[in-house]
Amino acid sequence: MSNSIEDALKKAVEKAEVGQVTEGQGAEENQELSARIKKLMARKTNLQRKKESKTTFINSMKKKLSHEERYEICKNCPNLDKKWKFCKICNCFMPLKTKLRRAECPDEPPRWT
Ligand code: SF4
Repeated sequence: MSNSIEDALKKAVEKAEVGQVTEGQGAEENQELSARIKKLMARKTNLQRKKESKTTFINSMKKKLSHEERYEICKNCPNLDKKWKFCKICNCFMPLKTKLRRAECPDEPPRWT
């Protein structure tokens, strides 16, 4: 929702609260309209918060981890062959693969990038 719509909604709430939204309609209708507009604005705020948290999560996932951090994740992964230290999905030797900057975990979703 753009800022102009948000501003229009705020103005509508202000007008509804002083009883100027629609002339000739009763105070109950104005209050109902005001409540509906407030609900819409609250929903918009919730959607914005969800979008922001999703973006933060995606950015944190994009952040490259260090070799130690990656290998630590592999050590705790059920797909790692603990004896030979090979990933059961990609068959790579993980102490080496986790050092490669462009390497990624083949699991879906990836456990590290
Ligand atoms: S690369 Fe991914 S799937 Fe393979 S062992 Fe490491 S964390 Fe597990």
